[in-house]
Amino acid sequence: MMVLKGQLHQHRIQSEASARANPMSSPEPEVDLEDTDRLEGRAALVNNVNAALALAGAVRSTLGPRGSDKMLVGEGGEVVVTNDGVTVLETAKVEHPTANLLISTSSAQDRLARDGTTTTVLLTAELLRNALELTRIGVHPSVIMNGYRIALDEALSQLAEISREPADKSEIRAVIATALAGKIDTKLASVLTDLALDAAAALAQEEGGGDLERLRVKRLQVASGKASDSEVVHGLVIRKQRLDFTTPSASDGGVIALVDGGLENRELMLDAEIEVRSLGVLAGFHQRTREKLQTQVDHLASLGVELLCVRDGIADEAHVMLTAAGITVYRRFEREDLERLACLTGATMVRDVGRMSASDVGEYSSRSEEKIENSWHLRIDGNRGAAMTALLRGTTPTMREEVSRAFDDALGVAHRLSSESSFLPGGGATQIHLARHLRAYAPSQKGREQLAIEGFADALEIIPRALAENAGLDPIDEILELSSAQSKIGPWIGLDVMSGDKTDMASAGITDPLFVARQALTGATEAAITVLRIDDVLWAQVEPGTPDWNSEESEDEI
Ligand code: ADP
Ligand code: MG
Repeated sequence: MMVLKGQLHQHRIQSEASARANPMSSPEPEVDLEDTDRLEGRAALVNNVNAALALAGAVRSTLGPRGSDKMLVGEGGEVVVTNDGVTVLETAKVEHPTANLLISTSSAQDRLARDGTTTTVLLTAELLRNALELTRIGVHPSVIMNGYRIALDEALSQLAEISREPADKSEIRAVIATALAGKIDTKLASVLTDLALDAAAALAQEEGGGDLERLRVKRLQVASGKASDSEVVHGLVIRKQRLDFTTPSASDGGVIALVDGGLENRELMLDAEIEVRSLGVLAGFHQRTREKLQTQVDHLASLGVELLCVRDGIADEAHVMLTAAGITVYRRFEREDLERLACLTGATMVRDVGRMSASDVGEYSSRSEEKIENSWHLRIDGNRGAAMTALLRGTTPTMREEVSRAFDDALGVAHRLSSESSFLPGGGATQIHLARHLRAYAPSQKGREQLAIEGFADALEIIPRALAENAGLDPIDEILELSSAQSKIGPWIGLDVMSGDKTDMASAGITDPLFVARQALTGATEAAITVLRIDDVLWAQVEPGTPDWNSEESEDEI
């Protein structure tokens, strides 16, 4: 475990990155992460690459199930222990624009694919490192960008080629288990995998793409029970009690209305400038307010509404009117929860109660209040669409956070697998195969782009290298042995870091989703190209055509 105090200290990261730099190349001088002065041409590239390597150095040791945890200590002394790359990066305070670009690339990976965030950062940094090497021997950034694009296209088509479709449910479970490996113990991973598959199955019939898992599944951390007692409820569970305790706490179904606002007379209060000259005026005003509320409550009653959920508040005067009309009320909902209710019940969220029509109300199938831990929770079920609540349990806040993060990963992957289920070998096998393939493919391309394609191939090997390193294995030997095994047996031979075996990843159950690998390659290449493009422009200003480094500062000083 490594302690990063306060913030990821630049020199700390820097020294780690340079310690890991290719031992064959001369060490790069330390470039201050915060030094954002305009640097031109090659110096800018050196600076940007160093920032990327520094950042990658901070998460490299977390890759894979044998990756180590990091303890992040915030300014206020709060502690997070994690081996999740994106969490480390998003917590770090980094100033350098390239470092920030990498962090947003990794966040995009998290949003789009849910997994592969560390992989993306490592790949980006390595693509940049190799680009820098290529500029040293006189290859222009624009040529490198071209070569990287060609390599990416070829790599993507190879991914599709070697990927497989799951033959049965156990193969899908293996993909999810691989995503959870090293994050929580295997027994809990198996429980969360089941929950995730259950939720994903319910979402499979719905439209809405990858975001659906975040929108439709509420995460509720519960401070009692064992982590393995976590469950997914097909309904909405929310920490809340009804407004008036004389109304029924449970029901076997009825008509529900959702108000995206309140049942207040705020507009009337704010808009009306009333001059109070006599008590009569004030009384008249209150009278009108009450009448307006009564009209709204009557309108709800005429629509048959029995359960009312509102986003804002309810005017005091309305409490009695609603209870008298037989309407049970819950207030102060989060918008997302109202949206989930809309899904469950078919109701439409309406801003103005007066305009609510018969087609806006929905139907719920049951509701109740139950005590979880020490507070009351409302549970509403419906049978229109899918919306769920994951009750994530654990005795300590740290445990609950961990369970919650692992469930996020499991559901993120499970949900996306239901629309694209192809998977690839993990344990570095995919990257070793791509590297071998690209090296053979490079000579078919014209000119210096070949060198960039080889640089791309070398960069991919960072994944098996880091996996081996983190397992205490010799990365060079492992990569050589994997390459030779693949040349004899095929691309599915990878490294199982738990046993140290080099074996068929499908039978070992070490498999990664195709969408994760595809997004990681695409995101990393785009990020690297973005950095190279900046320097391409600066470069052109300094020296159009092929750069001649000897006319600037001597190579050794840069
Ligand atoms: P990321 O943030 O990129 O998902 P992880 O720390 O989750 O990083 O590590 C993912 C990598 O670990 C993948 O390349 C996956 O194939 C690999 N992996 C998972 N389990 C094993 C294992 N038992 N042996 C070797 N590699 C594994
Ligand atoms: Mg992962």
